[in-house]
Amino acid sequence: MSDVEDREGLAELARDVAAYARYAREIGDGYVSAGPTAPSVRVSGTSASRAAVQEEQEEREPMPVKKVSEPVRTSGAAGESLEDIRADLGDCTRCKLHPGRTNIVYGEGNPNASPMFAGEGPGADEDASGRPFVGAAGQLLDRIIESIGLRREDVYIANVVKCRPPGNRAPEKDESSMCEPFLHRQIIAVAPKIIVALGNTPVQSLLGFKGGITKLRGHFFEFRGIPVMPTFHPAYLLRDPSKKRDVWEDVKMVKARLDQG
Ligand code: SF4
Repeated sequence: MSDVEDREGLAELARDVAAYARYAREIGDGYVSAGPTAPSVRVSGTSASRAAVQEEQEEREPMPVKKVSEPVRTSGAAGESLEDIRADLGDCTRCKLHPGRTNIVYGEGNPNASPMFAGEGPGADEDASGRPFVGAAGQLLDRIIESIGLRREDVYIANVVKCRPPGNRAPEKDESSMCEPFLHRQIIAVAPKIIVALGNTPVQSLLGFKGGITKLRGHFFEFRGIPVMPTFHPAYLLRDPSKKRDVWEDVKMVKARLDQG
């Protein structure tokens, strides 16, 4: 390697370290904690603990799909808007999650967002407010978004299931299968340049892969021609801050792809 290449390599490394330091400041304490045995943070009553436990489990057995009385369209009408899809969702009783909810958490953000973030489902804070990612994990997601130069209102955020599963558990297969067409239609309506799939549930919904977020993250896949970056759910980062470095690598790739236009 020539001296010039050497200097350019060092300059690039310095820029990367500086950007990493900014990211560490953005997402708060614990980011640089590198030990695999970093202490867990209990986030009871939110989607946080559920997603984190799910990612730790990695693999789940498929559940039988139950019959339901209301139909669900698996693809939307051409040109349908987010409002059209919300109207079709209505006061939904299509799956067994509906009796336990306070609010349907449909999704929110820029209807023309370049990046879209797909999560698992509402936790207690989201169920109470009717908004996605407003608890501790949501605050961390906000800081991750800000670390790549965007604001929460620049992106669109929605979950695979729109109603809170009881007992803070992961959505079961029949629930995800019934609700996920709405997320898919939201994606088509927003037409983002990139989707960031937060954890195993949206990865399974969008890509058909079951579990294995650790192996899948850091690589782009596709959902209907749209690049998808799987990464850890923010709730998992609350339990294991050492994984924040991996998320940094993933969102750097997302930013680079967005910057390409
Ligand atoms: S989770 Fe989705 S399909 Fe199930 S009741 Fe709620 S909105 Fe309907």
